[in-house]
This record gives sequence, structure tokens and C-alpha cells, in this order.
Amino acid sequence: RIRVRGLEKSFGDQKVLRGIDFESLSGTSTVLLGPSGSGKTTVLRSLNALEIPERGVIGIDDVEVDFAQLPSGRTGRKEASRLRAQSGMVFQAHNLFPHRTVLENVIEGPVLAQKRPREEAVADARALLDQVGLGERADAYPSQLSGGQQQRVGIARALALKPRVVLFDEPTSALDPELVGEVLAVIKDLASSGWTTVIVTHEIRFAEQVADQVLFLDGGVIVERGTSAQVIGDPTEERTRKFLRRIT
Ligand code: ATP
Repeated sequence: RIRVRGLEKSFGDQKVLRGIDFESLSGTSTVLLGPSGSGKTTVLRSLNALEIPERGVIGIDDVEVDFAQLPSGRTGRKEASRLRAQSGMVFQAHNLFPHRTVLENVIEGPVLAQKRPREEAVADARALLDQVGLGERADAYPSQLSGGQQQRVGIARALALKPRVVLFDEPTSALDPELVGEVLAVIKDLASSGWTTVIVTHEIRFAEQVADQVLFLDGGVIVERGTSAQVIGDPTEERTRKFLRRIT
């Protein structure tokens, strides 16, 4: 379960988040929609403590951080990293290590960061690669894979850390159009198999299918929220309607 209260974040004198509140129940998918610059990625990166908001509270299951109270220096970094360990992030570009095989890329986090036994990490990684449809490509190098396959390895790598929540930051925006579908299908599959996900995407049809909850952001606030049928199918706010008219 994710709890976010009163999130505020500025870059210089630009206030990017102006008080974000929401909850996501375990096993559900939350999609963040909104125009460019509305703050979607900043919300996602705050959940992963890649950005440190000035104010607000984020809780993921049993870890909660009150950013206004976050001590500076080492103690603060330690608290932030406890929050970070609760989630796995899938970025626009996969950031795989080019000189390591697919399998080595997936086990790197569990073995080096989490100190899990290598055999156990390998067995888990093979199961995850099967799940994303790449069981046969465990020994390939990233350059031998298509962009869509590389992104699916990126997803397996995030899942290998056994996070409570998986965060997707525009996971298909760097892909050629013909490769988008296979990546979205994998994410849909994860969402329906019980993972808790938060997804930033501009793929509106996908959002409609995958989201249990849609948050529409504009100017650093949540302007409208609800099920996808409410927010995408029948929006009440003019700003949401204008956005949807523009991108559909
Ligand atoms: P997009 O759909 O274009 O990715 P977004 O809704 O995800 O947009 P954010 O990436 O969260 O928006 O950015 C919100 C605002 O904060 C933008 O105006 C952006 O320029 C600014 N911003 C984001 N990160 C930084 C940073 N590290 N330094 C300075 N400004 C930043």
C-alpha cells in the first residue's frame, strides 16, 4: 500500500509539486496522466527517493518517511534508502550493462546489493525472464536484443529486487512504435498478477485498460482522480477534457 500526503517539491524557484495526496492499495495499478511538465515524473521519483521533496509524507507498506522531518546527512540518506528499497523503477531507457548478459544484468542487484545467494538469484531471474517472454535469451547480450526486448529485461531486473511496488516512468516512450505493444502487454500482465504498480504514460488506451486508479495532474496538483472509466471515459474537469482531446 502506498500513502502520499502533502508532497511539495521545488526546483530552484519553480514549484513543481504543490501538495500531492493519494493512496494506492496493494495489488492495484495507479496511472499518472497529465501534460508535459505537470510533475508526473517528479512524483514517481519521489516515491523512489530519487528526488527529495521539501515537505510531505510517503509511506510504502511499513516504511514511512516524513520529508519535512528528514535529517540531513547520513541519517537522512539512510531513511531515504529504506524507502528506495521498497520500490523498483523502470526507466524510459533500460540502462542495462552492455558487457553483461541478460541473466547477469538481472541477478546483479539481488547478488551485489541484496547479498542473496547466487543460485537462488539465478533461479528467480530465470523465472522472471520466462514471465517477460525472454527465457530463451538469458545468455544474450543487450546489443543482440531489440529495444522492446531490452526494456522487458529492464522490467525483469526491477522485479528481481522483489520490491513492494514497481514504478514505470514512460516505459515505452523511447521505443519504436512497433515495439510498444509487447512491453505494454508485459506490464498489463504484471498488473493483473498482483503487483502494485504506479505508471507514468502517455499511452491513453493502455492507461484505460490497466489502471485501477487514474490521477490527472496539472501544474503540480491532482486536478481529477478516479477510475479510468471516470477520468478517461467521462472527465468532469475542463483541464482533463482539454488534455484528452489533445492526445486522443
Ligand atoms: P513529461 O511528461 O514531459 O515527462 P512531467 O509531468 O513528468 O513531464 P516532470 O518531469 O515531473 O514533469 O517535471 C516537472 C517540472 O519540473 C518541469 O518544468 C521540469 O522542467 C522541472 N524539473 C524536473 N526535474 C528537474 C531538475 N532536476 N532540475 C530542474 N527542473 C526540473
